[in-house]
Amino acid sequence: MLDKECLFCKIIEGKIPSAKVYEDQKMYVFNDIAPKAKVHLLAVPKTHFALLSEADGEGFSMLSHIFEKIPQIAAEYGCEKGYRLVINQGEDAGQTVHHLHVHILGGQPLDW
Ligand code: 5GP
Ligand code: ZN
Repeated sequence: MLDKECLFCKIIEGKIPSAKVYEDQKMYVFNDIAPKAKVHLLAVPKTHFALLSEADGEGFSMLSHIFEKIPQIAAEYGCEKGYRLVINQGEDAGQTVHHLHVHILGGQPLDW
């Protein structure tokens, strides 16, 4: 289920434009609008939930699919030498968009 007030749900539905790099039935991947590395992709499940603690069976099935697909997508889009995955959860982590997403950062050496 998508949420009509949510920015990433609107991106998934094509109501807000995005630079798509990959899409299938369970996930949507696009370029971050404010990249923090040479390559900065966002991978989102095609169902709306903000936090891991809110995911149901369908959510975890989509997350599992996302992690299965990420190696191939990352390698294809400039992260063949490695990449970092980040999932910000809640206020202290600085989560700003409340639709769970995986940041894929790479294309350069990354400071810890
Ligand atoms: P968070 O801080 O929630 O982990 O990450 C949200 C990310 O979404 C940020 O890196 C931010 O740059 C990105 N972002 C916010 N609004 C948009 C948008 O309208 N389009 C795209 N492509 N990325 C966005
Ligand atoms: Zn959403």
